[in-house]
Amino acid sequence: MNEPKTEMVGAKYITRATDHMQYQPGMDNIGSEVQDEVIARMQAEDFSRYTAADVLCALRKDALQPADFAALLSPAALPYLEQMAQRAQAETRRHFGNSVQMFTPLYIANYCENYCIYCGFNCHNKIRRAKLDMDEIERELQAIAATGLQEILMLTGESRAMSPVTYIGEAVKLARKYFRVIGVEIYPLNVDEYAYLHGCGVDYVTVFQETYDAGKYETLHLGGHKRIFPYRLNAQERALMGGMRGVGFAALLGLSDFRKDAFATGLHAYLLQRKYPHAEIAFSCPRLRPIINNDKINPKDVHEPQLLQAVCAYRIFMPFASITISTRERAGFRDNIIGIAATKISAGVDVGIGGHSGEDKGDEQFEISDGRSVDEVLQAITGHGLQPVMADYLYV
Ligand code: SF4
Repeated sequence: MNEPKTEMVGAKYITRATDHMQYQPGMDNIGSEVQDEVIARMQAEDFSRYTAADVLCALRKDALQPADFAALLSPAALPYLEQMAQRAQAETRRHFGNSVQMFTPLYIANYCENYCIYCGFNCHNKIRRAKLDMDEIERELQAIAATGLQEILMLTGESRAMSPVTYIGEAVKLARKYFRVIGVEIYPLNVDEYAYLHGCGVDYVTVFQETYDAGKYETLHLGGHKRIFPYRLNAQERALMGGMRGVGFAALLGLSDFRKDAFATGLHAYLLQRKYPHAEIAFSCPRLRPIINNDKINPKDVHEPQLLQAVCAYRIFMPFASITISTRERAGFRDNIIGIAATKISAGVDVGIGGHSGEDKGDEQFEISDGRSVDEVLQAITGHGLQPVMADYLYV
């Protein structure tokens, strides 16, 4: 008989012995028909069954079905990357013109109660932890605003105790003084908490599911709230129920079977778009990166061609969706992708705590590949004949 593991990791009441599929007290359970469909179709998907004919058939269609999306993610599509890129580029230009949105992330705290074994912020990694107070946050906001950016993505590690919802809400109210568009990438919340943050000024919520393979998820998330797979998976829907106008989706490609994870990510967004037609959908396409105290972590079989394939497949399947290309990727690759399928790019990025105003109070979440300033990225965008856009939304 297996002995339950009793060591305490992260939050006191969730350990490795906790059933990762069971909601914990206090977590909203909104039902799971979208989750069930995503998981069932992902599990049933066999990417080896697709042929070149399936790929070409998908590329000829005006509107793709999930099976066409799967064909574009299959190994059979890799020889057709050029055709996929051309179709993706045509869709991007049709729906977004030449515009490329710019933003930067602002990490206001790096305390985390979770034990995600691939992340530098995990509660067992010995790094410098920090949390900015409101004066420090304002200095960071001022430094970022001085670069000309008008959109900001505010992040914390996932610690309700150290970064309560009210702390995030007050930080967002400050950010409203300086920025037109505000996103958050924080721990998943209940519907009423998303409504509160929307009232403070948050426009969109991004949640990385990391992997949609629940079995793999369990082995990677050993402690903390994040261990509860369905609570995380349904965060975007709760955010929409709480009034957010936009939601972002991502799998961390390289953690598990990247084709299945990319398929599930796209299908999850597709199903929520059908259920909430007003929702503004966004994808991020992160790959694994080395972290402090573990430089061996890498994205395994997700090389740049496979990443390009996934990004193009997202674009062709969901032509209206915003796609962000991460600073985890090198500058040349990012510049190419904004010419094809991505519509949003970060610039002047610092993934530590306090770095924008030169205070450097806490360590970074992961290594970035593209450390260019806002001006340098702006010049790269215009150099590619594209139009930098600082904000795509105005409140009147
Ligand atoms: S991935 Fe997020 S939740 Fe997991 S350790 Fe890192 S910051 Fe915490």
